[in-house]
Amino acid sequence: MADFKQNLRAYADLIVRVGVNLQPGQDLMITNIINRGVSLQTAPLVRAIAAAAYEAGSRKVDVIWSDPELRLLNFTKASPDAAVDYPDWMADALQRHVENGGALVTIHADAPGLLRQVDSDLVSAAQQSALKKTHHARQYTQSNKVNWLVIGASSPDWARRVFPDLPEEEAVDRLWETIFKVCRVDRQDPVAAWQNHIEDLKSRTDYLNHKHYTALKFSGPGTDLTVGLPDGHIWRSGRGQTQSGIPFIPNLPTEELFTAPHRAKVEGVVTATKPLSYGGSLIEDFTIRFEGGKVVSVSARKGENVLQKLVDTDEGSSRLGEVALVPYSSPISQTGIMFFNTLYDENAACHLALGSAYPFNLANGEAMSSEELLAAGCNRSVVHVDFMVGSNQIDVDGVCADGTHEAVMRLGEWAFDL
Ligand code: ZN
Ligand code: ZN
Repeated sequence: MADFKQNLRAYADLIVRVGVNLQPGQDLMITNIINRGVSLQTAPLVRAIAAAAYEAGSRKVDVIWSDPELRLLNFTKASPDAAVDYPDWMADALQRHVENGGALVTIHADAPGLLRQVDSDLVSAAQQSALKKTHHARQYTQSNKVNWLVIGASSPDWARRVFPDLPEEEAVDRLWETIFKVCRVDRQDPVAAWQNHIEDLKSRTDYLNHKHYTALKFSGPGTDLTVGLPDGHIWRSGRGQTQSGIPFIPNLPTEELFTAPHRAKVEGVVTATKPLSYGGSLIEDFTIRFEGGKVVSVSARKGENVLQKLVDTDEGSSRLGEVALVPYSSPISQTGIMFFNTLYDENAACHLALGSAYPFNLANGEAMSSEELLAAGCNRSVVHVDFMVGSNQIDVDGVCADGTHEAVMRLGEWAFDL
């Protein structure tokens, strides 16, 4: 228990000092927009973050709370219109906070399937309402006008999903231990560990950006895939900076280096190395074949029709929008756990995403129209779904402009020195 409290304090410290990098005099808001607040189940962590924030000189800390049971009641008992409509006061509070330069911490503590008893159309309509009404405020985080952070916290709801065979209390503790481990909270000096880690990611990003590879070639069991990279592609990693120059890390944990693939230049076959959780279903042991950038066939031992539906969502969902490199030895990968949470699962292994690419992965991309992005090879779609292709058996080569190959990863680990 003493250990837990100590770890919780260290985690909170990391969140405040390294993650969101709260500045003296700055306000902090802790919430979760989609869930209309941060889960009451995370109260011990929220209190620890508030304490760390005041210690760092914060002017004030505001928390918007949400109770999972009340959310369920709202969905099942309120009139559908009222249940769906995002409260204006909540949107206003967020808007005023970011307009005043406040920092934002979002805590994820839930698992998909929590609202299983609720009509899924109702849940997605509520989500749309939340996104629509907070659109203005979210521009402040999306364009880095303020420092912001997304983190995870253990809760009975999430822990039950990750460790279904354990009694609830044990599952919650196990998930906390895992979060502390993958967030490097168990290291001697977690703050220094993160600073080193982020520096390493940055140096590797710089290396790849200087290489200007025309493609990456993935080879391994069941995988022989060439992923073309567009001219002007930019590798990015987990470091952000506000427009005013405050460095921060928008996701804790973060392990990936990622860029935009060329939407028309993906050839060959790739076999996923982990199951994909999508729309409440699990897709297992699946293979995707590409020609001219487009998916031409999929096969899966389980969930093949769900995968096919995903691919058929729109024109862009049959093409790639992200290629990301994560070493096999990274802490999340080593846990071997399926978290059912993108923040964690996306950092577990090298991955590709079907669907939209990030415009900031292309030089000048953020100033381009949709047509210009497409013309430059940057994919567009309503979906962005990551699936894992990395393992300790995967090799990645960079293809140079003259056609020669260079080792980027061997057996899942970095193969170049800095
Ligand atoms: Zn990624
Ligand atoms: Zn992604």
